[in-house]
Amino acid sequence: MSDVSTDLIAANLAGVQSVIAAACARAGRRADDVALVAVSKRKSVAHILAASQAGVVHFGENRVEEMQDKRQLVMDSATRQIKWHMIGHIQSRKARHVRNLFDTVESIDSLKIAHKLSESIIESKQPPLTVLAQVNVSGEATKGGFEASGWESDRDLFTALAGTLRKICDLPGLTLTGLMTMAPFYDEPEQTRPVFASLRILRDALLHETGIALPELSMGMTNDYPVAIEEGATMVRIGRAIFGERAY
Ligand SMILES: *Cc1c(COP(=O)(O)O)cnc(C)c1O
Repeated sequence: MSDVSTDLIAANLAGVQSVIAAACARAGRRADDVALVAVSKRKSVAHILAASQAGVVHFGENRVEEMQDKRQLVMDSATRQIKWHMIGHIQSRKARHVRNLFDTVESIDSLKIAHKLSESIIESKQPPLTVLAQVNVSGEATKGGFEASGWESDRDLFTALAGTLRKICDLPGLTLTGLMTMAPFYDEPEQTRPVFASLRILRDALLHETGIALPELSMGMTNDYPVAIEEGATMVRIGRAIFGERAY
């Protein structure tokens, strides 16, 4: 843990922030329209504290167990506010732990898990949890989320998705505020643009045709976040550009 370079993390962070600012400028957007979520999965408590010290507020983790191991250690030592984002698939049997661990769940990928989470929150009389629905607009089989590839030309798919999102909106334990997606990995980041544009256009269509308002768009990772910002991301989830490569 002592091998964490606080200076390197701070320098990486400053680099990412300037790339975010430049992408916002190109898109005619304000830099503070885009929230940075530092993805700290498989990184140590010391990494998280270093980023917090450098000014990061939002952290992303993708496993309930790992968050259970790290959360209290971070919270005991952090001197600044920290908000935790769940960005990975949640197994049903872990749903009851989620509200105590996370401030936002970006990865709602089934109506079943949405129900489970809402139920556990209502039962334990906790305040509603802010959630995003993860949507697979690229059709890549390895990416999770509600199936939505080709929604532009498939009215039934759009209607079914809108119906599911409406049901999530109606759950008393959850507050649905947006959509999240992952683009396939491409060597050339520009190739991700249609994926991100598709999520934005889907969001706009949901508002105009069904009245479901989803202002947040979580899209963009280390490889492709400038493109995602140009296409309307309000949250980017960045791991490696801040913390370095992950060891598996
Ligand atoms: C790991 C992960 C990220 C961050 O990826 P990097 O390439 O490290 O920036 C973003 N989103 C999700 C859902 C992830 O699992």
